[in-house]
Amino acid sequence: MYVRQLGVDWFECLAPAKLNLFLEVRGRFPDGYHELETVMCGISLYDTLWFQSVQEHTNVELEVVPVGAPFADVPRGADNLLVRAVTLLQRAQGVAVGARLRLFKRIPTQAGMGGGSSDAAAALLLANQAWGLGLTRSQLLPFAAELGSDVSFFLGDSPAVCRGRGEQLQPYLGAIPRQFVVVKPNEGLATAEVYRELSLDQPPRPLPAKLGDAQIFNRLQEPALALLPKLNQLMDRMRILGLSPWITGSGSALFAACAGRVRALRSANQLR
Ligand code: ATP
Repeated sequence: MYVRQLGVDWFECLAPAKLNLFLEVRGRFPDGYHELETVMCGISLYDTLWFQSVQEHTNVELEVVPVGAPFADVPRGADNLLVRAVTLLQRAQGVAVGARLRLFKRIPTQAGMGGGSSDAAAALLLANQAWGLGLTRSQLLPFAAELGSDVSFFLGDSPAVCRGRGEQLQPYLGAIPRQFVVVKPNEGLATAEVYRELSLDQPPRPLPAKLGDAQIFNRLQEPALALLPKLNQLMDRMRILGLSPWITGSGSALFAACAGRVRALRSANQLR
């Protein structure tokens, strides 16, 4: 993720969606949070976020511009994760000016694609730049961790292994696929509900040294399928095309690795 200047006082950041190529739940912390080991990579589906510093007041104003879907569940006000991100930085750094934000929303919600977290990471980078705070990415990490477990990953630029609640990051150095087909059913899945459906009675899988079709894995797939059985039919249709589908995060989006771009585009068209 990087920030570029648009004209005189607007800044722009493209916030990518993510896929979980491996996700294992290693246990549960005393506070009820789950201990994860997951490999995430960004993909070329983006929300676009614009940021303008405002001198007249200290409010953080957000306009959401839905692209391709209504996004009725995306909060337009203070509950939006990116407004929380900007406000957090503003208070912590004693910033005495406000901000105007415009979010062009494309990443499906309740999909396991991390849209809200990615928006929040983009907002931290934009506020840092537009307000001239001069914080390094490492200095932004504690803010990211406070906002949500996936936000830290989006501050980085490469595939990463995320452990703990997701905030302990290391680069993933094994080979990963480069082309994917992603299928998002109309129905979404709420992360908390999927975890409620999860039983931790199986031995955890070790993290594979590389992630091809044979190694991609997600422990949350079984509970997600139990909550949304329709996913089974979508997966069957993907398998007919020779793909090996998995859910990403806690679903409901499905993805499959593809050998090349042409094959990925052809499969996507056949599934559409
Ligand atoms: P989760 O992080 O729970 O797995 P997800 O990655 O599937 O979710 P998100 O795009 O993060 O999907 O949206 C989850 C919920 O977060 C939305 O339904 C919405 O109510 C809320 N939300 C808050 N801020 C945002 C944002 N900037 N973009 C999208 N959703 C947001």
